[in-house]
Amino acid sequence: MDQIECVVIGAGVVGLAVARALAERGREVLVLEATQAIGTGTSSRNSEVIHAGLYYPRGSLKATLCVRGREMLYEYCAERGVPHRRCGKLLVATARNQLPQLTALATRGKENGVLDLMRLTGEEAQALEPALECVEAVFSPQTGIVDSHQLLLALQGDAERNGAVCAFHAPVESIDASGGRFVVQVGGSSPSVLSAATLVNSAGLHANALARKIRGLDARHVPPLYFARGCYFSISGRAPFSRLIYPMPNEAGLGVHLTLDLGGQARFGPDVEWVQSINYDVDPRRAESFYSAIREYWPALPDDALQPAYAGIRPKLSGPGEPAADFVIQGPSAHGVRGLVNLFGIESPGLTACLAIAARVCEIVART
Ligand SMILES: Cc1cc2nc3c(=O)[nH]c(=O)nc-3n(C[C@H](O)[C@H](O)[C@H](O)COP(=O)(O)OP(=O)(O)OC[C@H]3O[C@@H](n4cnc5c(N)ncnc54)[C@H](O)[C@@H]3O)c2cc1C
Repeated sequence: MDQIECVVIGAGVVGLAVARALAERGREVLVLEATQAIGTGTSSRNSEVIHAGLYYPRGSLKATLCVRGREMLYEYCAERGVPHRRCGKLLVATARNQLPQLTALATRGKENGVLDLMRLTGEEAQALEPALECVEAVFSPQTGIVDSHQLLLALQGDAERNGAVCAFHAPVESIDASGGRFVVQVGGSSPSVLSAATLVNSAGLHANALARKIRGLDARHVPPLYFARGCYFSISGRAPFSRLIYPMPNEAGLGVHLTLDLGGQARFGPDVEWVQSINYDVDPRRAESFYSAIREYWPALPDDALQPAYAGIRPKLSGPGEPAADFVIQGPSAHGVRGLVNLFGIESPGLTACLAIAARVCEIVART
């Protein structure tokens, strides 16, 4: 049986960031990825926004790791040549009854250390973005966009340069933690069994189900997981905006916003649909609700402009109607299994926070 120091399950942006950080600290690392490539899960099915940190309660992991992770990510992208742009975003109130929510978000942002937010009148916002209609807005200069695929490649490259190995078609099927080390059964085209001292479960939408299968981990430590699907629609041609436009957030997401890719192409989404299983098909009929949501802030959106683009699924630890849950980064002090770190509910802002999450995981691993 092969003996490995650290196994990281999942080659999404978080798993690769963890692998990179552990490898840079001199650890022997093997990344096991079920599919054929890096970033085939949530990491390639999101808005690609580097969030400033406005939305999350003060002191939460989401707030702390978003604000810290954002700065780490900008620095990393600049150093490694990962395409990104600090384009800024306008958070908009499109009706007077949304003003208290706008104020609350601006206050929360300040509490989280986002100190450069600017409150704008409707006219001031329109001077920045003439196609926009809103009553008032908050401008967030620190919000940006990143090429997530290039980010994934850079993280993988750094990890491998420091000796980490990524194995694809390597789905982890079972884990036995009862004997002091982790005995990991890997399926796929060349099944194997290996033994590891440290195991980081970064399996995204599958992390909770996988943790429930770990022999030696009390299943009471594994929270329930809910799937909230979000679809995106794109428009052909360029949208007349150079900043991101976000409406007020709703119970499970940040609202159908306008995000841009680095070529200036606009995408709108994601909406929220609670689902039981993983299916990334985009039903073109969902466009109807997108037209009404987008025209709240961009009334000139032409008829028939929207085309189905892609969908992503949020791994949520809170179900419909429940208050939003925080990230869970669970080490031995929580579950009692030496060497095990579970990452649960790494939804947005997980892309922004990936480097800060990785640093936190390394701190936990160093203590075990
Ligand atoms: C609609 C949507 C929009 C979002 N927008 C943003 C945004 O704009 N900004 C932001 O900061 N965040 C955003 N996020 C959040 C962000 O995309 C995620 O937090 C991040 O991508 C999570 O990365 P991950 O590595 O944890 O998961 P994933 O990318 O899902 O990676 C998990 C990996 O584990 C693998 N795996 C699963 N089971 C096994 C197994 N048994 N064995 C081996 N491998 C396994 C999977 O194949 C997958 O590759 C968004 C999320 C969604 C859904």
